[in-house]
Parts: sequence; C-alpha cells; structure tokens
Amino acid sequence: MCGIIGFTGRLEAQKILTEGLAALEYRGYDSAGIAYFKDTGKISIRKTVGKVKDLLAICDDENNSTCGIGHTRWATHGGVTDQNAHPHQQGKVTLVHNGIIENYRELIADYDLQEILHSETDSEVAAALLNHYYKGDPKEAIKKTVSKLKGTFALVILFEDQPDVIYSIRNVSPIVATICKEGAMLASDLTALCRFTNEYFVVPEYHILELHKDHVVLSLIHI
Ligand code: GLU
Repeated sequence: MCGIIGFTGRLEAQKILTEGLAALEYRGYDSAGIAYFKDTGKISIRKTVGKVKDLLAICDDENNSTCGIGHTRWATHGGVTDQNAHPHQQGKVTLVHNGIIENYRELIADYDLQEILHSETDSEVAAALLNHYYKGDPKEAIKKTVSKLKGTFALVILFEDQPDVIYSIRNVSPIVATICKEGAMLASDLTALCRFTNEYFVVPEYHILELHKDHVVLSLIHI
C-alpha cells in the first residue's frame, strides 16, 4: 500500500513531506518522491527507487518551499524504476496517485497519449487527462477527468499556475485531512498527521478537496 502526504502552510514543506513519508513507511513501498512549488512558480520533483533515506539523498539541503506533495509507491502498473516513481508531471499538472486506474489502456488509446507518457504507470494517464482538460479551472478539469476514470484512486494534484494550493479527490483509496496552526495537510492515513493534530476529517468520496495555507474547501461534484 502506498503512502501519500500533502502540506501547504507556514513551515518548510520538504521536511514535513519526508518526515510524513517516513511515518508511512510501515505500509511497505518500493520508491519515494516529492514535488513542491519553487519561488519561481515552477514545480520541482525529486523521486527515486528505494527508501525515504534514498529520497533524502537527492533532496536539497535547504528548501524554503512551503507547499508540496509526497508519495511512497507500491508498484502495480509498470516496473520499479525512477521514471515510474511518483509524482508524475504532464504539462501544468503534477500528481501522486494511490490505487489502480483500471481503464488506463483504453484512455491512452482514446486520447492518443502514448507519445507523451514518460512512465509505464496507470497514474500518469490521470495526469495527462487532467492536463488535457485543464483550461485554468482546476475543479472543472478534475470533474471531467474523474468522470472518465474506472478503478480506485486517491489523487493529489498541483497545478503549476495555482501556487501553494493542493487539490485532491478520491474513490475507495483513503485520504484524511486537517487544518492546524502550521497549515493545511492531507495524508493517506492518520499516522502522518498525528504529530500535528488529532483533529482531522476523512475526505468523502467524489468530493474535491482544496488545501490553502489557512483554509480548506470541500466541494461535492456531480458526475
Ligand atoms: N498504480 C500506481 C502505480 O503503479 C500507484 C500504485 C500505488 O498505489 O502506490 O504507480
């Protein structure tokens, strides 16, 4: 089972993400990665096969980003390689995914995606679809994408031109979230959140969660 973490707030994100991933290590995994907003407004990714300590070895010593997402992967589609590790990036969209997109082969064919994919994962197909539908409105892109997905998913998404905001949606695969004095956080389970707070909520299925530095928004979507 993979692990997911996301943080936007007033502390350095890289430290929170890597410590959160370490707290989720008990779930088992084969690769680890993070993505975060840089000062320039661009998104940086660090990811590798191996353990969180291997990820730390390729992270910056100093990193003042305060918004990012992290993932520990349990490979289901595509081998255990650096390229198949999460996060995945397609255009303006960077995401991590827990679960299985069952119809990913059909989606690759229907949307003619084969040429643009960098990995063998089902997850990157969701990133490509989101980027395809993204015209400046994250919720609209998420809604359209999710209506095409069959399977289980917890998706945690950064849009390059929506700095310091984290979006998430899930079906079956779990996500819990919280807002506390340090900022807003989400994770695939409580273990990663409990050193900050014991107040949290379980994100309901097919609701779009937005994490901002000082508030969260939950919207029900109709598909
Ligand atoms: N199916 C995805 C993959 O193989 C996600 C696996 C997971 O939940 O870690 O990359």
